[in-house]
Amino acid sequence: MNQETEKVECLIIGSGPAGFTAAIYAARADMKPVMYEGLQPGGQLTITTEVENYPGYPDGIEGPMMMDNFKKQAVRLGADIRYGIVTSVDFSQRPFVCVVDEKKTVIAESVIIATGASAKWLGIPSEQKLNGSGVSACAVCDGFFYRGQDVAIVGAGDTACEEASYLAKLCNKVHMIVRRDTFRASKAMQHRVENTPNIEIHFNSETDEILGETMVEGARLKNTVDGSMKTINVTGFFVAIGHTPNTSIFKPWIDMDEQGYIITKPGSSYTNVEGVFACGDAQDKIYRQAVTAAGSGCMAALDTERWLASQHSA
Ligand code: NDP
Repeated sequence: MNQETEKVECLIIGSGPAGFTAAIYAARADMKPVMYEGLQPGGQLTITTEVENYPGYPDGIEGPMMMDNFKKQAVRLGADIRYGIVTSVDFSQRPFVCVVDEKKTVIAESVIIATGASAKWLGIPSEQKLNGSGVSACAVCDGFFYRGQDVAIVGAGDTACEEASYLAKLCNKVHMIVRRDTFRASKAMQHRVENTPNIEIHFNSETDEILGETMVEGARLKNTVDGSMKTINVTGFFVAIGHTPNTSIFKPWIDMDEQGYIITKPGSSYTNVEGVFACGDAQDKIYRQAVTAAGSGCMAALDTERWLASQHSA
């Protein structure tokens, strides 16, 4: 039995650039938005260092500070920002029923999904065991700790190449572990990696095990062609194999692609459920930028405002 029930006009789920921008617009439109920040308040930018490509900051800004500013702006304009995770939703009828932290029920006239995406992991036990003790999914956040040391990075996409290049500047040597015999990354990124002397690329290689009891000491790689094994000595192990959208709780109701990205009607934030809107990385696997997420958060708030007005005048 749920302990509390509350009615809201506009519920925003998630607190990255998309969610906060939606909150800013919704608050200014007097929709009294209530936001639940989710598992990682502030979203992925809170684990980034400097953001240089967000317009309006000529000298760049630290990711956590930028998200703090987003939040302050939303609060100043009247958004109700709360800690808490929306743990389940029922979109089968309106108003929508959303459960927070498995105990509180929020009855929402409209919902804006801004839950973002999270890094993917390899899924091997040693990765989990050594997570935070040498294993990381964010080179930009953690690379600094491995200055002058040897590290490994798994992946062959643009993210892996970008992070390998970043690590190569800090570290003595970077082992890049690529599961096929080719990159997925753009040619420019690939060439940058290939032309960096202290990056060694291990093609056709899978991570069999990350070695070390309490800290990363190395990795055992398996050749996918002949099955042979080799060990590399590294103290840091970075995983850069893509992201998964944080959309699983919406799956019974909301149309998604095979990877779980929410499908929105082109040029809008409308989902297949009337009254539920989506923005940010939860529905964008192509651009995935703070500024595009913010832009789509604005769209979601404007779409919600117009939709609510049409309901109230009906
Ligand atoms: P991608 O999905 O593009 O690449 C993921 C990489 O990880 C692939 O090379 C894939 O291998 C590999 N991989 C996946 N699972 C495993 C596994 N279990 N074991 C080993 N390797 C694995 O993700 P990215 O994060 O790199 O990029 C996402 C999007 O963002 C892309 O569209 C990219 O272009 C864009 N982006 C653009 C940037 C830029 O332009 N500066 C920077 C960063 C990202 P395989 O190739 O074999 O499938």
